[in-house]
Amino acid sequence: MSRKITGATLVAGVAGAPVRHSLSPPIHNAWIEAAGIDAVYVPFAPRGDNFPRFADGLRGGAIRGLNVTVPFKEAALSVSDEVSERATLAGAVNLLIFNEDGSTTGDNTDGLGLLAAFAAQAPDYDPKSGPVVIVGAGGAARGAAAAFVLAGAPEVRIVNRTLAKAELVATALGPPVSGCGLDDAARAFTDAAAVINATSAGLVGEALDLPLEATPASAIIMDMTYKPLETQLLARARTLQRRTVDGLEMLVRQAVPSFEAFFGQAPPTAVDVRGLCLSVLGPAA
Ligand code: NDP
Repeated sequence: MSRKITGATLVAGVAGAPVRHSLSPPIHNAWIEAAGIDAVYVPFAPRGDNFPRFADGLRGGAIRGLNVTVPFKEAALSVSDEVSERATLAGAVNLLIFNEDGSTTGDNTDGLGLLAAFAAQAPDYDPKSGPVVIVGAGGAARGAAAAFVLAGAPEVRIVNRTLAKAELVATALGPPVSGCGLDDAARAFTDAAAVINATSAGLVGEALDLPLEATPASAIIMDMTYKPLETQLLARARTLQRRTVDGLEMLVRQAVPSFEAFFGQAPPTAVDVRGLCLSVLGPAA
């Protein structure tokens, strides 16, 4: 990158541990460059429980804002003076804005990214059209459930390997969210309008054998895992002729509202950020 850093250069970034493989720096810097903004987007890897002190040190104008990723999303909620409704429901902040008066505003754009990915890859899907099943009960699943509740889904079913965690998410969000174990997946799938994999099973190399054949032919199958881009789950969904939405689209789309919050303008549409991410991910994608 041949961009000049000046005394007026704005700074934004991403905090995570590890952060080395984050796609956010390539995405935001490509947009910054194309938009001709005097700004830079950098990675931060605060150590362990140091996030609150790290974030407090940035208050009052040092930085425009931060995207926050694993494992700091809950800690980012705790250092937010003001929190959006979607971040409160999600129980996590992935966008932390540092206001000039020293205060912080926490938001969560993961759910927006998820809904925007559906809008891009399954344009006629309406979240109000039927039950949504989310497999997994971690932070990503809770954020997704919150987004679908806010979008008017009539029912959101959390299906998780550990039943108690599914029930915790259901209790935290209340109706229309319910929880059940993986043993009940086929029953939960029967009338599903959409099924979303929000587990980390693919990341650790364990295959997640979900009963996709129990879904109606009209169901849309989404996988938050994006490496590989076509996961085993999405490949099986395609074999069953179900429409699919991939995790990379969600990742790219959740970056849009963050960029807008940092720099007060929409990212330039001419940049092929999806292609850029695929080239960064390499042949395994
Ligand atoms: P967490 O660690 O908080 O939760 C992991 C979940 O996966 C738990 O519910 C866990 O079940 C379940 N799980 C793990 N392994 C298995 C398995 N072998 N079989 C069944 N269930 C399993 O992770 P996050 O919620 O933060 O993230 C989940 C995934 O979503 C990750 O792969 C992450 O990369 C992805 N993600 C993608 C985004 C995108 O933009 N595309 C955005 C955010 C996340 P249990 O409770 O039983 O342990």
